[in-house]
Amino acid sequence: MNTKEIMALSDKYVMHTYGRLGLAPVRGHGARLWDADGNQYLDFVGGLAVDSLGHCHPAVVGAVQAQAGTLLHVSNLYYIEQQARLAQLLAQNSCCDRVFFCNSGAEANEAAIKLARKYAKQKYGPEKCQFITAENSFHGRTLATITATGQPKYQQGFEPLPEGFKYVPFNDLEALGEAIGPHTAAVLLEPVQGEGGVHVADPAYLAGARRLCDQHGVLLIFDEVQCGLGRTGRFLAYQHFGVEPDIITLAKALGGGFPIGAMLAKEDVAAAFSPGDHASTFGGNPLACAAGLAAMNATLGGAVENCVRVGAYLKEKLVALQNKYHFIREVRGLGLLLGMELAGEGAVYVKRCQERGLLINCIAGNVLRFIPPLTIAEADVDRAVEILDTALAM
Ligand SMILES: *Cc1c(COP(=O)(O)O)cnc(C)c1O
Repeated sequence: MNTKEIMALSDKYVMHTYGRLGLAPVRGHGARLWDADGNQYLDFVGGLAVDSLGHCHPAVVGAVQAQAGTLLHVSNLYYIEQQARLAQLLAQNSCCDRVFFCNSGAEANEAAIKLARKYAKQKYGPEKCQFITAENSFHGRTLATITATGQPKYQQGFEPLPEGFKYVPFNDLEALGEAIGPHTAAVLLEPVQGEGGVHVADPAYLAGARRLCDQHGVLLIFDEVQCGLGRTGRFLAYQHFGVEPDIITLAKALGGGFPIGAMLAKEDVAAAFSPGDHASTFGGNPLACAAGLAAMNATLGGAVENCVRVGAYLKEKLVALQNKYHFIREVRGLGLLLGMELAGEGAVYVKRCQERGLLINCIAGNVLRFIPPLTIAEADVDRAVEILDTALAM
């Protein structure tokens, strides 16, 4: 099928929950994508931070192919070797001790919300059940996670929302201090807000949040669904800040393109869950975990170092563009999670770049986001910045 045919079929039969761009990718390799009409693109969207190893990373493809021919799925009624090994790898590379597997970021946050409530109620009593999250955060699209998400546009029309959530401005320690009370079970934050516009936490904010949580018997949950797994130049973003959370949520890049999510917790917190308290039919199945093991081994085996080097290189080039165009307000971010805030709307630049073979995306209306593979080469960054420069100059 060509692009036009795919678009027509999709528009007729698929539910209209996405505002799609007129592009139908059919093949990918590394940082490159090809559409149904044979056009080639440099991909700085990367499946929205999923394709951190580039498209069709050979280790992930090989692991999926081998596992697909051996055992696709069995129930969590049984022990699953790949699941145990992926949990070990995540525990050994984080401050957490145990892992619950699911299929998406929203589910990972749902699991974190349930675990934090169970823990807090068991330890302090039934009233300790509330959550504090940040404005402009993003935590997913289930009812509980749109409620956790501090952006009214994701909640409107879906009321009544679950109770027990309040919001504070991000990076405002005083506001957090005022919001925490005896009924607070947990504070949920992204160390780098992704969807909300690429906002990096101040180190003093996260350190202060940790201190407040400890003083009030409150759990600190970091949503690293987007910023985790090498994206910021550390395996986990919290490692930049020297602040350890009690619970971490992961998804996006975890399976190298295969859907899988995870919720990690420290031993004493994880102990609040007993058999039967939480479950997922697909969560952590052999195929997903084989993909996850291959993806995480490749991430830890060199992709993070490349991200540090090329991330600094890209940021420098974006800052050079900021010096050239007065309407670029700010360039910010860590590693290869970078944002360029414009004075006006960003959608027109996304379109111009796409027409010239570069895929980027725009969030919060005026922030161009750059999330290429962690494995990307400097030469591809040069090419992308050239195209972006042309698009900005028009
Ligand atoms: C994408 C994202 C989610 C939701 O993940 P899904 O897999 O779409 O459910 C949650 N938190 C953050 C920070 C995200 O970027």
